Amino acid sequence: MEQKISLCWFRRDLRLDDQAAFYYALRSGNRVVPVFVFDTHILNDLEDKQDRRVTFIHEVLGEMQAQLQQLGSSMDVFYGTPENAFEHWTHKYEVAGVYTNHDYEPYAKNRDAAIASQLSRKGISFYSYKDQVILEKNEVVKDNGEPYTIFTPYSRKWYDTLTFFHLKPYPCKKYYQHLFKQPVIKLPSLEEMGFTPGEKHFPSKDLEETLIRHYDETRDFPAENGTSRLGIHLRFGTVSIRAVMQRAMQLNATFAKELIWREFYQMILWHYPHVVGNSFKKEYDKIVWRNNEVEFEKWCKGETGYPIVDAGMRELNATGFMHNRVRMITASFLTKHLLIDWRWGEAYFAAKLLDYDLASNNGGWQWAAGSGCDAAPYFRVFNPALQMQKFDKDLKYIRKWVPEFEGFEYVKPVVMHEEARKRALEVYNKAFRK
Ligand code: FAD
Repeated sequence: MEQKISLCWFRRDLRLDDQAAFYYALRSGNRVVPVFVFDTHILNDLEDKQDRRVTFIHEVLGEMQAQLQQLGSSMDVFYGTPENAFEHWTHKYEVAGVYTNHDYEPYAKNRDAAIASQLSRKGISFYSYKDQVILEKNEVVKDNGEPYTIFTPYSRKWYDTLTFFHLKPYPCKKYYQHLFKQPVIKLPSLEEMGFTPGEKHFPSKDLEETLIRHYDETRDFPAENGTSRLGIHLRFGTVSIRAVMQRAMQLNATFAKELIWREFYQMILWHYPHVVGNSFKKEYDKIVWRNNEVEFEKWCKGETGYPIVDAGMRELNATGFMHNRVRMITASFLTKHLLIDWRWGEAYFAAKLLDYDLASNNGGWQWAAGSGCDAAPYFRVFNPALQMQKFDKDLKYIRKWVPEFEGFEYVKPVVMHEEARKRALEVYNKAFRK
C-alpha cells in the first residue's frame, strides 16, 4: 500500500522551523510533503513582470528546497491555480490531510474554503492553524464580546490576554525524520512563469539589537537607519512573529507596540472585510474626491514640489521601501492636499511596497484619510514643511532623494499648503452634512 501523506501548504509562512502548520503536519503520523502554489490568480494581476516580491519568494523557496534536499526530502511547487494544484497532488500522493496556516484576507478566506470543500469531497481533511499573528480573530475582544476598533484599549487587552504559551516556539526540527523522502523536484523558474528576476538585495532578517534598543528615539527620522526593516520578512513569514515579539518585549516596548498594530489591523480585516474597497466609517464614502489624474501622476513620480513628499515617493519607486513617518506624510498629502481617493494611493503602494500587506496598508491609508478605525482626526492635515523641519531638519533624507531641491530647477508646489488645507476641510465637512 502507498504511504499516507500529509501535505503542508506553505503561503505566508515560508520557514521550516517554529511554523505551526508544519509542526502539526510533522506530528500527524504520516510522511510530510511541503507544497507551495505560485498562484496564477495572484501572479496574473501583477503588472510589473520584474516584481521583486516574486523574486523574493522564489529565492526563499530555493533556500528552503536546499535545506529539504539535505534532509533527503523535497518541496513540491506548482505553478497554476490552487484548485489545479490540489487536483494534481491528490493524484500524485496518497493524501490523508492538508495542513496550513490561517490567512485573514478575503481572497484567501474564500480560496481556503473552496480548497477545503474540494478536498472533503475526496475524504481528505483540511487543517488550518494560527501562525502569522500571536493573538487573532476573537482572542482579543471587549468584555461584551465585540471587536475593538480603537488601538489603545485593544493593546491593553492584548497584553492581558498574552501568556507564555502564546510565544512558545513550535519545535519542527525535532520531527524532520517524518518528512517524505524523495529526490529533489525542480522549482519552476521565474522565466517559466513569465517573470524576470528583479534586484535581489533584500533587508536582513536578523533583528539588530542595538538598533531596536534605541527604536523609540530613532524610528521617526527617515534619514536614520532607525527601524527594523523586518516588514518583508513578517509579510512572508521568513521570520516567526513569536520569536520577534519575544525579543521585542525584552528590548523595546515601543517596538513591541508596532508589532501589535500589525495584529490589530489583521484583526480588523478579519472582522470588517468591507474595509477592502470601502471606508471603515461609512460616512467617508460620501467624500467627493477631486481625483485629478495629472496631480496623481506627479505624486506617484515624486514631483509635487513638496520635498518630503517627493523624497518618500522616490524612495518607494527606487527601493520598494518607504519610511513609516513618510508613508503617513505622503498618504495625508494625497488624500487631503490633493483630495485624491485613498484607494488610488493604496493601490499604488500595493504595487510597489516590498512589505505590502493588505491589512496594514489598508489600515495605514484609512488612518491617513481619516476614514479608518482609530484614524487621525479628519481635520488634522499634516503640514509637509513642518514635518520636514521636525523629522529631517538637516535635510539628509531630502538631499539623498531630491538632490535638485536646493537649486533653481526644483518643481513648483502643485498646490499651496494653506489653500489645500482649507479646501480639504470644506470638502470633508460637506460630505458629513449630506
Ligand atoms: P518597524 O518600524 O521596524 O516595525 C516593525 C514591524 O512592525 C513592521 O515590519 C510591521 O510588520 C509592524 N508595523 C510597524 N508599524 C506598523 C503600523 N503602523 N501598522 C501595522 N504594522 C506596523 N506596513 C506593512 O507591513 N505593510 C504595508 O503594506 C504597509 N502600508 C502602510 C501604508 C501607510 C499609508 C502607512 C501610514 C503605513 C503602512 N505600513 C505598512 C505600516 C508601517 O509603515 C510599516 O510596517 C513600516 O514602515 C515597515 O518598516 P519596518 O519593517 O522597518 O518597521
